Amino acid sequence: MDKPVLYIVIPCYNEQEVLPVTKPMFLNKLNHLIARRKVSEQSRILFVNDGSRDSTWNLIQEFANQEEKIEGISLSRNRGHQNALLAGLMEAKDLCDITISIDCDGQDDLNAMDEMVEAYHKGADIVYGVRSKRDTDTFFKRTTAEGFYKLMNKLGGEVVYNHADYRLVSAKVLEEFSNFNEVNLFLRGMFPLVGFNSTSVYYERHERLKGESHYPLKKMLALAFDGITSLSIKPIRIVTGIGIAFSIISFLLIVYALISLIHGTVVSGWTSSIIVTCLLGGIQLISLGVIGEYVGKTYLETKHRPRYIISNRTYKE
Ligand code: UDP
Ligand code: MG
Repeated sequence: MDKPVLYIVIPCYNEQEVLPVTKPMFLNKLNHLIARRKVSEQSRILFVNDGSRDSTWNLIQEFANQEEKIEGISLSRNRGHQNALLAGLMEAKDLCDITISIDCDGQDDLNAMDEMVEAYHKGADIVYGVRSKRDTDTFFKRTTAEGFYKLMNKLGGEVVYNHADYRLVSAKVLEEFSNFNEVNLFLRGMFPLVGFNSTSVYYERHERLKGESHYPLKKMLALAFDGITSLSIKPIRIVTGIGIAFSIISFLLIVYALISLIHGTVVSGWTSSIIVTCLLGGIQLISLGVIGEYVGKTYLETKHRPRYIISNRTYKE
């Protein structure tokens, strides 16, 4: 078999501090894979500048000028990690045989790439990088992430446990994936839907080498909501279920109240009425929120707006 052309796709947003540190690491890893004859010499690193406000794009252009094996594309504005990653993958799809997506901050162990490429040679089309230890994440991030993966799987979304966006995907899978046109992206949950052979490799997650995380609690929650609404409509069914349960309870209460009335005893009440009113009010508002979330997402999907716009490329002849 010919050696596959590998594109390492790396989204970057305001990463001027960490890029000079991690760029040589990525380059070394790629050269190592080429030297071991695992991937073709045509393999490249593709940085995606996600509309950074600092000098990230200047750095990427400099890297591309200095190094034959580095290229970059720049989005016209900040579109978020998932869109930036998609832009890179779609760009690479026709240029390579396999892609590996990875964050630019050195948190994901580059050595797992050897195993990923090995797994591809053994027939896998998707190889998920799975965090075996998350000691370096805060206790809060670990527990919320664990809860999220459990909830996701309960709701029927197939998400590989402790896998984020460090993953090998073959061009064949990307070709099929290009037919997934949704704007509400949750890539780690969407790739399992494509099918084909997949496997996992395990790695330890490190601390960010420099700079700061772009995923504060608010964005993490938004990503979790996007993940759930993108993969499952079970929450709507749960709302229906709660509605049915409360209807049954209220029917029984009506029967009880009427029987009491016939027997001449009035069910006493201000406290019970106020509790029931507040409880139902709360549940109704939450239910409306859940349904509204889906209606809003449907509205956004129907616009078919482009998910990203590429404004610049660094390709060398
Ligand atoms: N990122 C991006 N666009 C954004 C936010 C983040 O391309 O709007 C990139 C970022 O540069 C990094 C990756 O997504 O390469 C993951 O972000 P980060 O390390 O901040 O997240 P964390 O690892 O803390 O979850
Ligand atoms: Mg990170």
